[in-house]
Amino acid sequence: MDQDQKIQQFKQMADADPENELGHFSYAKALLEAGQHEEAIRPFFRAIELRPTMSKAYQLLGETYEAMGKRNEAVDTVTKGAKIADEQGDVMPRNTMATLLEKWEAPVPDFKATTAPAAPTSGSSAPGFSCSRCGRPDNQVPKPPFKGELGVKIADNVCIGCWQEWIPMGTKVINELGLALSSESGQQSYDQYMLEFLQLDGR
Ligand SMILES: [Zn+2]
Repeated sequence: MDQDQKIQQFKQMADADPENELGHFSYAKALLEAGQHEEAIRPFFRAIELRPTMSKAYQLLGETYEAMGKRNEAVDTVTKGAKIADEQGDVMPRNTMATLLEKWEAPVPDFKATTAPAAPTSGSSAPGFSCSRCGRPDNQVPKPPFKGELGVKIADNVCIGCWQEWIPMGTKVINELGLALSSESGQQSYDQYMLEFLQLDGR
């Protein structure tokens, strides 16, 4: 998918299901990646409004402000996001935001959790595993959930909890966009959403 197609498709999802934070978040992220900063702000806000604990949205909104030269807004947003991520145990976005604050020479808030909290049932994981979406070190998906490269990537990088969150979201994506998984383009779009949701891009 090229950048414009991606923007259009995520916009379509945000419009089709205005209560679904993933559509707004993905739409905003695609706009940010395309350098359309001004346009990205509203959908980021909408995603945060729908899910105030979505720490990654604060991080990217902060980066959007930074790109626009709005330092105060960037620092405020990322400080808030880092605290929320800390409370959620979202270690990766928290650390990324702490690094951003340091780079901007802004104070880094005191964090409560020094490491990711252990999940209630701690499944076995490969050494060094951390989930691409939530950063937790345990409950790795035990085997590829489906055949192919992407299935292996999920088993290598995603925890069971995040994978289970994706499943109903995937069904929504199919229904709302009317995707036919039997077609190549339908399958491609579906995979794109899954990568986006599980934050596997670049892994
Ligand atoms: Zn996870």
